[in-house]
Amino acid sequence: MNETQARDFEPPSEPPSNLAEAMAPALSVFNPAARLAAVRRSPQPQGEACRAFRERHFPGVPDSSWNDWHWQLKNRFLSAESLSRIMTLSEDERLAMSPGFGRLPVAVTPYYAAVVAAAGLDDPANPLRRCVVPTTSELTMHANESADPLAEEHDSPVPGIVHRYPDRVLFLTTDFCSTYCRYCTRSRRVGKTPTATAKRKHWEAALEYIAATPQVRDVLLSGGDPLTMPDAAIEYLLARLRAIPHVEMIRLGTKVPVVLPQRITPALTRMLKRFHPLFMSIHCTHPAELTPEMRQACGRLADAGIPLGSQTVLLAGVNNDPAVMLSLMRGLLTCRIRPYYLYQCDEVAGMAHFRTPLSSGVEIIHALRGYTSGYAVPHFVVDLPGGGGKTPVLPEYLKGKDGDTLVFENYQGRLFRTYDPPAPGAAAPVSHGDLQ
Ligand code: SF4
Repeated sequence: MNETQARDFEPPSEPPSNLAEAMAPALSVFNPAARLAAVRRSPQPQGEACRAFRERHFPGVPDSSWNDWHWQLKNRFLSAESLSRIMTLSEDERLAMSPGFGRLPVAVTPYYAAVVAAAGLDDPANPLRRCVVPTTSELTMHANESADPLAEEHDSPVPGIVHRYPDRVLFLTTDFCSTYCRYCTRSRRVGKTPTATAKRKHWEAALEYIAATPQVRDVLLSGGDPLTMPDAAIEYLLARLRAIPHVEMIRLGTKVPVVLPQRITPALTRMLKRFHPLFMSIHCTHPAELTPEMRQACGRLADAGIPLGSQTVLLAGVNNDPAVMLSLMRGLLTCRIRPYYLYQCDEVAGMAHFRTPLSSGVEIIHALRGYTSGYAVPHFVVDLPGGGGKTPVLPEYLKGKDGDTLVFENYQGRLFRTYDPPAPGAAAPVSHGDLQ
């Protein structure tokens, strides 16, 4: 694909009101009849919650539309007015969605609205609803907060690239997401409207930077959500990256399998598997998200040989409960996703209502470790403000040292001792007597 063709595959951009128009150039490369036929060949599983929601709010919409990710994007809930057709909004929520308020647009796919509905659409404490419906708390900025707490713009050598760690870069490919999370770390940039020209320039400059920087062996494509782009756009980026000899692995960061599982089509996975080694980090928040549709999407990705890991933000009133987190982490393994990171909520402006004390994450890890498979225990990390990077936090299991003996507390709180051999070249260990 040459550059002129690539221009046709611009990712969609906000404002959401003209989404169909924004998507039009990208969609024109598809044969609609072939696309519909592909949808029919791969029926999606239908969770009970989805079925009930569809019957009530989208009667008469055929499976061929509901299971088509383009239909899901076109029919998103984008305003207080559209959301109020499916849920009772509080005055506070309505105010937060008034024109001119807030930093991050509102968008919820019909599919994800159905998942939210299963947990009680009219309950403002519904954990999934809290993740997608704004409140005026987002408008309050606390002293420790900032629009870019991780200083990504500072570590950006060219637009769209964040180069913080020695051997890897973050490539922000698009500012578009199918569903906007109210706690988004990149609320300063997602859902905004860069011009098409600037976007093309930003891709080419980013690819040139990676090609000219031999220490970059790992590229993480993120955004926004890169899987909201058409197949051909993703293929273009993957092919360009694969042509760079020092790029050993490519990762995709996405929430699409959770909020828009219809996007994970057989055609997409066939294309992705041509670019191994390719890894995927899937953003999951709550066990209620693990629906039959999401499981099928993850199964397709795993069958394509893509190792799947999860990323979860610890959120007050959403998942800051050891039982909820245990259910999520075990459930992820059954979806063939290895729990990878549990993040302390970043100090992003307007997110104080979601932030928990650090001890909450430590308690959760303590409640998981030993009580379930090690595979189900993620790394709990704080992404340090100012660009310090992801830093792990663990419960204290090593309680101290007694001579050449270490004292540990196990997951049940029982103390155990183990001999600690000296470092090479250090003084000989104290004799423990004749072992013969
Ligand atoms: S999917 Fe990711 S980038 Fe998009 S709004 Fe959610 S957290 Fe932000």
